[in-house]
Amino acid sequence: MRYEPEKSSHQQRRRFVQVLCVYFFSCVLGAVLSGPKSQLILLIAALAMCGIFWLVFSKQKINLAVNCFLWLTTFLISALITINNTVYDPLVICYALVLMYAALFSSRLIFIGLLVFISLYCTGLLLLILWGFWPEPTPQVRFVSVVAMNIFIAITGFTAWYIARDFHSLLRELWNENNQSKRSQQEIKRIAALDPLTGLYNRKHTELEFHKLAASENKLAVAFIDLDNFKPINDAYGHAYGDIALKILAERLTALLEDGELCCRFGGDEFVLILKYAEPEKCKTRYQVFLDQIAEEMQIELRTFKISASIGVAHYPAHAADFNELCRLADLAMYHSKASGRNTAVLYCPEWQDEHRKKLEMIQALRFAVENNELFLHYQPKYNLASLKINGVEALVRWQSKDFGLISPATFIPLAEETGLIDDIGLFVLKQACADCKDWIAQGYEMPVSVNLSAAQLSSGMLPDNVLTILTETGLAAHYLELEITESMLMQDQNAIDSQISTLSDQGISFAIDDFGTGYSNLHYLSRFKAATLKIDQSFIKNLSKSSQHYNLVEGIVVLAKTLGLTTVAEGVEDQNTLHILSTMDCDSVQGYLLSRPVSLDALYAQLQEKSVG
Ligand code: C2E
Ligand code: CA
Ligand code: CA
Repeated sequence: MRYEPEKSSHQQRRRFVQVLCVYFFSCVLGAVLSGPKSQLILLIAALAMCGIFWLVFSKQKINLAVNCFLWLTTFLISALITINNTVYDPLVICYALVLMYAALFSSRLIFIGLLVFISLYCTGLLLLILWGFWPEPTPQVRFVSVVAMNIFIAITGFTAWYIARDFHSLLRELWNENNQSKRSQQEIKRIAALDPLTGLYNRKHTELEFHKLAASENKLAVAFIDLDNFKPINDAYGHAYGDIALKILAERLTALLEDGELCCRFGGDEFVLILKYAEPEKCKTRYQVFLDQIAEEMQIELRTFKISASIGVAHYPAHAADFNELCRLADLAMYHSKASGRNTAVLYCPEWQDEHRKKLEMIQALRFAVENNELFLHYQPKYNLASLKINGVEALVRWQSKDFGLISPATFIPLAEETGLIDDIGLFVLKQACADCKDWIAQGYEMPVSVNLSAAQLSSGMLPDNVLTILTETGLAAHYLELEITESMLMQDQNAIDSQISTLSDQGISFAIDDFGTGYSNLHYLSRFKAATLKIDQSFIKNLSKSSQHYNLVEGIVVLAKTLGLTTVAEGVEDQNTLHILSTMDCDSVQGYLLSRPVSLDALYAQLQEKSVG
C-alpha cells in the first residue's frame, strides 16, 4: 500500500467541509455588510459554494470539490480586489492562503495553474494602472511594483509549496511507520494466537474465540481429542514423523468443521474442537465421522500407518459455562473414553464429578496413610501341591482408612501409582514383610515372603539400593525374599529394568512373574530374564474345570515353565476340583481361597502351627 495524499481521508473531508462552511457564511455575512457590487459577487460565490457542497455530499467527489473551491476562491479574491483597491487591497493576502491550501490538498497541476493565474492577474492589474488605463484613483505604481508583487507571489507560492512538500513527506513517513507497526502488531498477535506446528489456534486464543462464539450461540459442544497411539509412532519413527502426522490430522479435522466452528491444538497430541450443539443422537454420528477421519490410513514418506483417538465431549452451558472448566470436563470424558476401549467418543456425565471428587479426597487421605499407620499387611500362604504344606506367603497390603473404611489394594494401588505415593507405600510393604519374615524364620518357620512390585517402583532406578538397605536393616537373608512383577513391567525401558533385576538376582533375591498369561504375548523375555517362578493368572485357573481351552493353556504354561526350569504357582484356586486337575498337571504350588484367604500375621502363625512348613 502506498501513501496517497490526494485520496481524501475521512478526516480531510471533514476539515474541508468545515472550511467550506466558514467560507460560505463569510460570503453571506460579507454580502450583508458590503456595498452592492461586492454583494453581487459574494452572493454568486455563495451560490457556487452550494454547488461544491453538492459535489461533496451527493457525488462524493472530494478532489473535484477541492479544486473547484480553490478556483472559486481565487476568482472571488480577484473579483473583489478588482472592484476595491486592486493589488493594494488587504484581501490580496488571501491568495497566500489559497496557495497554501492548494499545496497541501490539491495536485501540482492545480497549484501551478493557480500560481500562474494569480501572477498574471495581478500583473495585468498593475500594468493597467501603470499605463493609466485604470479608471479609479489608485496609489502611484511604478514598474518595479509589478516585479515586487510577482516576487511576493512567487515567494508565497514557493514557501507554501515547500512547506506542503515537507508536510507531505512527514505525513508519508508517519503513515508508513504507522502501517509497519500495525502490520507487526498484527503479525505478533497472529503468531501469539497460533500453534506453530499446525497453524491452529492455541489454547489461550481458543478461550477468547470460545467466548465470542458463546456470546452468539446458545449452546456449544467442546470435544477433547487425544490420540491413542501417537507416542509409539513418535518413539519409533522420530519426532519429525510425529509432526507430519499431527499436521495431517489438523487438516483432516479442520476439513470437517462447519462455519463458525473451531479446531485448536492444545499441545502434544491433544486437539480441541468447538462445535455447534446437536442432540446427542446426531452428535454420535458426527463424532464417528471425526474418529473415522483420524483413523484413515496415513502415508508419510514410504511408511503407512493408522492412528486412532479417544474423544470426550462436554456441553456449554449444560455442563459448565467457563471454558477451562468445560475443557476439564471434556478431558475427564476423554479418559472415560480411553477406559472404555479407546477409539470412541464419550459425553461427559455429571455423576462423574462425585466420583472424581471422591478420588481426589482418597488421594489426599492416602498421603497420610503411611504416617497414620493405616496401612498393614495380610499374608496369603502358598502351598506345595504335592504335600499341601505351606511353602511361602505373599504379602498383600491393606488400607484401613478412618474416612473410607477398608479399601482394596486394587483400588488404592493405582491411585498410589498415579500420584507417586507408591514409592513410600512400596517401601513400607517391603520393610514390614522382611521384618515379619525374619520373625517367622526366627520362630522356626523357614519360608520365603513374596512382595508385589509396581512398575513405578522400578522407574526411579533406586529399587536395588532400597531393597538391599531393608535387607540389611531387618537382617533377612536375600534368598528369603521373592519379588513379584508383571509381564507388562518387563516391557518398559528394558535396559534400566534388566540391570536392576540383575543386581538384585546377583544378591540372591528371586523373582516371580505375576498374573502370567494376561500380558505380553512375546515370550522372548522369559529367556532374557532370570525368573524363578511363573504365577499362572487366576482367570485361567478359575475356568480350568469348565473350559477345555483354559485347561490346555494352563497345561501348556506348566510344560513351558518346566522346560525353562521355572516353578509354577496356580493362583486363585477356589475349589477341590481345580486343585485335583492341577495335581494331574505337575504344577508345583497353589494359592487360593480354597486353602487360605489372605490373613493377618497372627492368623498366619495359627495356620503355621496347624500345617507344618515344607
Ligand atoms: P495379585 O498380586 O494378583 O494378588 C492376588 C489377589 O488375588 C489378592 O487380592 C488376593 O486376595 C486375591 N486372591 C487370592 N486367592 C484368591 C481366590 O481364590 N479367589 C479370588 N477371587 N481372589 C483371590 P488383593 O489382596 O485384593 O490384591 C489385589 C492386587 O493388588 C494384587 O493382585 C496386586 O496386584 C495388588 N497388590 C496387593 N498388595 C500389593 C503391594 O503391596 N504392592 C503392590 N505393588 N501391589 C499390591
Ligand atoms: Ca501377586
Ligand atoms: Ca496375581
